[in-house]
Amino acid sequence: MRGWRAPFVWMTAIVLLFAVAVPSVGAGAQAGGPNPDDPRQVDVGKYGMVVSAHPLASKVGADVLKKGGNAVDAAVAIQFALNVAEPMMSGIGGGGFMMVYHGKNKKIDIVDSRERAPAGARPDMFLDENGKPIPFSQRHTHGNAIGVPGTLKGLDKALSRWGTRPMAQLIKPAIRMADQGVPVNWVLADAIEENKEKLAKTAAKDVFLPNGEPLKEGDRLVQKDLAHTFRLIQWHGTKAFYRGKIGKAIAAASREHGGSMKPRDLKKYRVTLDKPLRGSYKGYEVATMPPPSSGGITVLQILTMLDRLEIGKEDIRSPEKYHLWAEASRLAFADRAAYIGDPTFVDVPIKGMTNPDYLNKRSTLVNREQAATKVEPGDPWAYQTGNGQAAPQQKDDRTTGETTHFSVADRWGNLVSYTTTIEQLFGSGVMVPGYGIMLNNQLTDFDAVPGGPNEVQPGKRPMSSMSPTLLFKDGKPVMVVGSPGGPTIIASVAQTILNTVEYDQSLKEAIEEPRIYNSHTSRIRWEPGIPDTVRTNLQSKGHRFESSPRYIGNVNAIWIDRRTGLYHGAGDSTRESTAIGLWR
Ligand code: GLU
Repeated sequence: MRGWRAPFVWMTAIVLLFAVAVPSVGAGAQAGGPNPDDPRQVDVGKYGMVVSAHPLASKVGADVLKKGGNAVDAAVAIQFALNVAEPMMSGIGGGGFMMVYHGKNKKIDIVDSRERAPAGARPDMFLDENGKPIPFSQRHTHGNAIGVPGTLKGLDKALSRWGTRPMAQLIKPAIRMADQGVPVNWVLADAIEENKEKLAKTAAKDVFLPNGEPLKEGDRLVQKDLAHTFRLIQWHGTKAFYRGKIGKAIAAASREHGGSMKPRDLKKYRVTLDKPLRGSYKGYEVATMPPPSSGGITVLQILTMLDRLEIGKEDIRSPEKYHLWAEASRLAFADRAAYIGDPTFVDVPIKGMTNPDYLNKRSTLVNREQAATKVEPGDPWAYQTGNGQAAPQQKDDRTTGETTHFSVADRWGNLVSYTTTIEQLFGSGVMVPGYGIMLNNQLTDFDAVPGGPNEVQPGKRPMSSMSPTLLFKDGKPVMVVGSPGGPTIIASVAQTILNTVEYDQSLKEAIEEPRIYNSHTSRIRWEPGIPDTVRTNLQSKGHRFESSPRYIGNVNAIWIDRRTGLYHGAGDSTRESTAIGLWR
């Protein structure tokens, strides 16, 4: 056990958690707030495990498993339930990556339901008339930001391939929840309060600001229109959405806000079935998310460089450790910004970027005494055949999105690692009138300045950071992990893996260990609990910090004990995460 568990450190951490004004979701401005001691966050199970960001969604998933459904069935039911109980994070108006490990044949598939740009999208659609990027604060609520949603088709694809229950049955609990209402928790209450202006401009107003006032913690959130939409899906299947009146209404809502989406964009939408990106880290095999996500490549780059830099020799709370982390992270993010895009449109130098010799060379750029003054991308194309165009520099004015990640395991050893999103909190803020669907603003994940691999093109998927990941030891799965948080996802996933594998922490400890995030262009974002001495020391090395702490991500993960075969679920205190294990 690490020193951070000593009682006085705990007390300091708890005081900090409540005393510091933390301006983000999970800030706990309401009565509820992050509590790492909440017993619901950890559980053990022999025959199954569900860990999600919401207790009702976890219960829905566990019920499916109890009744004999498999991990994919449970995942589908959980996604629908989260759409209702955590409507600002994910839903059928968005997209995601579902990674499925099949216990029977040990293979892994990914259902990629990432949103796509409609046919009318243009590379310069986020530039103003002077050719300058439209500020993020404006472009994220514009109709041009709304991508063609993929989530429902992704669920359908997963079920048709590997499910054992009909969608009409798995959607039922969500219909009930939407109809009868769910209690608003502190996470949702904070999110509504923070986004009330955006919500007030669309049909979302009547749902989240009834009588003009934001719903508060403890109020009931009733979503009749969403229940109606779910019933249409229950009766008519996904056709009602992609080829029917729901799709027409989605396209119309996007156009009403300046976008170009047409019903035929929905008709044309397709998911892809992909294979994971494979890598290794300290004797563990890693299966993670390939492009169009930057997540997998960047997680592997950071971990490999840190291994070369022998980070494990530094104490987990030492300035030396955080300095190495920050520098490796900056190098990896410089590559990420330059080279990654949708692989069906551009060549991504995946082999070069994950080549051990390349990363070895990149890691030698880290000076242990000093932060680099400027961090440039490397040349991964020198380590593989082909070539490509690096992206032009982008302005870093995005606020990080939020989404949701959940992990599921069943009695047959099937595992699901699913990160699913509508991008920013409540996406674009646009609710489809009469249908209760919150539409994403995922297309803001494209570069605003065209010319690079991640420029907007019709039918293309924007680069993501979502990193659903599985870890294996000697061919056996040991960890299911992922997180929300835009680019900070990469920091949350990589730090959770680092803390368990390198620092030998239990899964829950690894999740609660305070995280930092930085890219080659950002200041260091830091969680409450990062020691003052670390910040002072890093500042003296030239690092720049954000002025106050903020929570980063929400890791909901499973550790599988290879000896006992037991599933150890652990959720993150940054939301009302809940782990439920099965014993029968
Ligand atoms: N837009 C994000 C991504 O795909 C997901 C939402 C978030 O957590 O920011 O990387």
